[in-house]
Amino acid sequence: MSVTERFNEVQKRVNEACLRAGRDPKEVTILAVSKTKPAEDIRELLAAGHRDFGENYVQELSEKAALIPEARFHMIGHLQRNKVRQTLGAAVLIHSVDSLRLAEEISKESVKKGQVTDILLEINGGNEESKFGYDFSEAEDAAVAVSSLPGVHLCGLMCVAPFVDDPEKNRPIFRKMFQLAVDIGNKNYDNIDMNVLSMGMTSDFEVAVEEGATIVRIGTAIFGERNYGRS
Ligand SMILES: *Cc1c(COP(=O)(O)O)cnc(C)c1O
Repeated sequence: MSVTERFNEVQKRVNEACLRAGRDPKEVTILAVSKTKPAEDIRELLAAGHRDFGENYVQELSEKAALIPEARFHMIGHLQRNKVRQTLGAAVLIHSVDSLRLAEEISKESVKKGQVTDILLEINGGNEESKFGYDFSEAEDAAVAVSSLPGVHLCGLMCVAPFVDDPEKNRPIFRKMFQLAVDIGNKNYDNIDMNVLSMGMTSDFEVAVEEGATIVRIGTAIFGERNYGRS
């Protein structure tokens, strides 16, 4: 199957999950996670009308953004403060803000550039392998702290759930994420929107959509397995 056919298959599964949950498929953006994959794959999807792509590594992100300016790239991988400046021009949304110091650096560099950068706070959804992200209990305080920074706009939350064989195992995490976003959103803090919920990957995106995801980050189901050795 071509990349476009695989993408259409994912779109169909997202639509069906929306139908089951009584949601409008237009509320859900499929972020095609193109890390380690060649520019041709991205161009193929662009030609089919798809715009949003996710990258994990700053070097690769900035190279691809320069090469393919028509695409909208999102930064979804762990971001170090010394790579913030390079990221700002290349990414339309930074999903992986996991500390106040990182948010402060993004704000500082954004102010220098005369822009306000859209960010999400990364919540640790109980992934043993990933030590990144705020605990659920820390999220609201972190959101409030970040909201006072002049160069960032907090748009919502992101989480990387554990890799599971049965996607149902992650349903409670996605449900908790949705509730957390609703709870923070209901407080109507200045400079905090909770409209974006980035959760769900190849192994569990349908469950994430049923529980309220507005962005699902899909790599393998669209581009096939990644080969890190030869990227
Ligand atoms: C690689 C990656 C994805 C995509 O993973 P697949 O299982 O291939 O869909 C999504 N989110 C993050 C943060 C990733 O690093």
